[in-house]
Order: sequence, then C-alpha cells, then structure tokens
Amino acid sequence: MTPDDHPVVGAVPGVRGLYLAAGFSGHGFMHSPAIAQLVVEEMLDGKARTLDIRDLSLERFITGRRPFTATVL
Ligand SMILES: Cc1cc2nc3c(=O)[nH]c(=O)nc-3n(C[C@H](O)[C@H](O)[C@H](O)COP(=O)(O)OP(=O)(O)OC[C@H]3O[C@@H](n4cnc5c(N)ncnc54)[C@H](O)[C@@H]3O)c2cc1C
Repeated sequence: MTPDDHPVVGAVPGVRGLYLAAGFSGHGFMHSPAIAQLVVEEMLDGKARTLDIRDLSLERFITGRRPFTATVL
C-alpha cells in the first residue's frame, strides 16, 4: 500500500537507472502484464507510450501533488 492507495510506477527521480513498480494493493497480479509493458517503454523511450503513467510517479510524494481522488483497494 502507498499513502494514497495507488501504486508507484516508473523512474525514481534523482536515481538514474532505478525504476519502481510496487504498491498495487489487491490488484497487482492483474496489473502486472500491462505495468511491465509500460515500465519497459519508459526504460527504452524515456516515457510510456501506451498509456500516460505520470500520475503514478514517485514524484507525487516528493512534491505533495495529489492526482487521485477516488480509491479502489
Ligand atoms: C490475500 C490477497 C489476495 C489477492 N488477490 C489478488 C487478485 O485476485 N488479483 C490481483 O490482481 N491481485 C491480488 N492480490 C494482490 C497481488 O498479490 C499483489 O498486488 C502482488 O503480489 C504484488 O506483487 P509485487 O511483486 O509488487 O509485491 P510482493 O508480491 O509483495 O513482493 C514483494 C517481495 O519483496 C520482498 N521484500 C519486502 N521487503 C524486502 C526487503 N527489505 N528486502 C528484500 N526483500 C523484501 C517480500 O518478501 C516479497 O517477496 C492479492 C493480494 C493478497 C494479499
């Protein structure tokens, strides 16, 4: 779980080469194939192409940005 109940996905700001895909609560298995695809896209191309995953970045806990209003546990 994360503080806003949503996963953390993508590059870690300030740590080159470190990527996260964690905090999926009760939905990690079903999300894992798509998340793997998206993280690989970010690794290879600098950003995910299939979906915009910027709201899932660890950056939101660094800056205090809160993009999610609804929660599905
Ligand atoms: C009861 C239950 C039912 C679920 N049912 C579903 C379902 O029906 N559908 C679905 O999609 N998802 C379901 N999930 C959620 C899914 O199981 C998780 O989202 C998924 O397993 C998360 O995978 P993960 O690899 O990110 O993390 P995890 O599987 O939690 O793996 C993290 C690993 O890191 C290890 N670790 C932790 N801290 C450290 C450390 N400091 N050093 C080294 N290793 C460490 C842990 O031991 C663990 O092996 C369910 C979860 C539970 C608990």
